[in-house]
Amino acid sequence: MYHLMQRRLSGLVSLPCGACGALAVHSSEPLCAACWGGIYLAADPKPISLSFTAEGSSWLPYGIPEVKRVMGALKFRGHDRLALQLGLAMSRALPRPEVDVLVPVPLSPVRQYLRGYNQAERIAQGLHLGWGVPVATDLLHRRGWTSAKQSARTEAERQKIYGAYQARADPQWRGVRIALIDDTLTTGSTLNAAAEECIKKAKVAEVVPLTLAYATRRGR
Ligand SMILES: [Zn+2]
Repeated sequence: MYHLMQRRLSGLVSLPCGACGALAVHSSEPLCAACWGGIYLAADPKPISLSFTAEGSSWLPYGIPEVKRVMGALKFRGHDRLALQLGLAMSRALPRPEVDVLVPVPLSPVRQYLRGYNQAERIAQGLHLGWGVPVATDLLHRRGWTSAKQSARTEAERQKIYGAYQARADPQWRGVRIALIDDTLTTGSTLNAAAEECIKKAKVAEVVPLTLAYATRRGR
């Protein structure tokens, strides 16, 4: 009787959509049907190639309002399940890359503490569910002193990002092909700096960049 009641009650529970706040979302879904639909309509995979990477790809154009709302929601505490679901959706939309491990771009420890999770790591876990490629979080680290204020808004701030990443010179990573996972591609300087460090220090064979979204020019 108790279980039956519980089941009935759980069927009635509506959580707000993580992106638009609309109610009437099934409790296992982080987004409402309209927001999922908006994302799939907006999806426009684009190849990414940086000076230290092989060709990778990005799934969603950031400039579309529906995408912007969902990407904004990724950065709030409590929306880590959304990042995982988006990673899983991305794994179904994009071809599986020829890599051995998925490496999420790390957040600074301060920011990770404030947010409660690293969204790039959750996206990587979603990709892992879809592709079966393991996630490695001990290859690349971010130096502890990098504060939350050092987000790359200006060129000077971007320059500071160089040197912020440290890869482990562990023989297990030598010759391994990795996919570097991040939430949004803007200038590519973060991914490129991280890729350079993985190649030079950890001696990985190849870095394939993969991001959930990419920045677009205004109005596009
Ligand atoms: Zn919604």
